[in-house]
Amino acid sequence: MEEFAVGLRKVVKFHGDTIAVDDVSLDMTKGEFFSILGPSGSGKTTTLRLIAGLDRPDQGEIFIQGRSMNHVPPHQRPVNMVFQNYALFPHMTVYHNVAFGLQMRGHSVTEIKSQVGETLELVKLHEKPHRYPTQLSGGEQQRVALARALVNRPAILLLDEPLGALDQQLRQEMQVELKEIQARVQSTFVCVTHHQEEALMLSDRVAVMDRGQILQVGTPQEIYESPVSTFVAHFIGLSNSVVGRISNYDGTMCTVMTPYRFSIQATTPKDHSSAEEVTVIVRPERVHLSPGPKHDGYDNSLPALINKVSFNGGEMFYKLDLQDGLVWTARVPMALRPSHRFQVGQHVYVQWHADHGLVLTH
Ligand code: ADP
Ligand code: MG
Repeated sequence: MEEFAVGLRKVVKFHGDTIAVDDVSLDMTKGEFFSILGPSGSGKTTTLRLIAGLDRPDQGEIFIQGRSMNHVPPHQRPVNMVFQNYALFPHMTVYHNVAFGLQMRGHSVTEIKSQVGETLELVKLHEKPHRYPTQLSGGEQQRVALARALVNRPAILLLDEPLGALDQQLRQEMQVELKEIQARVQSTFVCVTHHQEEALMLSDRVAVMDRGQILQVGTPQEIYESPVSTFVAHFIGLSNSVVGRISNYDGTMCTVMTPYRFSIQATTPKDHSSAEEVTVIVRPERVHLSPGPKHDGYDNSLPALINKVSFNGGEMFYKLDLQDGLVWTARVPMALRPSHRFQVGQHVYVQWHADHGLVLTH
């Protein structure tokens, strides 16, 4: 238990008739950046509030640093929270927003000065201590909220959609900074977000949550490459999928018969029974497009029509009509030769290796 910063054991929380947190057990390791990723309403904020002690579990137990928190009030937990809306005091300067908590706890003026100064430096706001929140950009307000939560160096920092109010560019910059700040303070960060890219970029480990339940916990790479269900696969990134039934499973390789005029070769470590219903998932970056049917070592090759082409700077996105309304996407890096580029209306072959098709049963 000792190496765990936070432990949740079979935690249940109702809001009226709604089960917001449904039998959740989780362990967060000391010093890690842990994210809870899920759609809106999945129970993320409630989970954070339970850890902070702002809500009480109806069932189960929460441990922090190995100690049960059942009878520990919020202010006695080694935890601070950055709220989604920042909740800054508008009539106080940056300095006083950050100093407030220390003042309330009766720290000396010299101590406060040095701790606030150090923390403002950490979040790169040391040149603006006299500004008021309205005189700051969204990103700067976010830093004040972060500084305020970090000033007394909590062992655990809880962040509720910390970058949610920022625009795309600022969000990406702050992702890098948040990670640097965490490395410097070495606290455990528990972050909740509905933004999959953010969770993947920031986290050592991610828990995927839906309707109050934890569906999967793992490193970003594990979650992305080996999702346990189609929900996780789709939620974690754009995915191509097709349903079908298993035939010819030989222990590693299987053939999946689809309702379309093709079957698929896929490798799967799981035991499958014959005729079992499955979904095969293929990530858009795993799809190779070819002008002709030549296999070039790919186990799968299906004819398709280019329906739409878009470009995001680094990659081309091709929308592909396979058959009977089945639409897939391919992502092709611009770094590849121009012979890998196609136009709307062009006939191509969609190709991929058997071990790039994930076979999921639910
Ligand atoms: P998330 O942060 O993932 O969006 P929440 O934890 O805020 O999810 O909410 C989980 C569920 O609990 C939702 O169905 C939400 O409507 C409900 N809920 C959250 N807070 C309250 C509350 N104070 N009163 C009633 N229902 C609530
Ligand atoms: Mg929330």
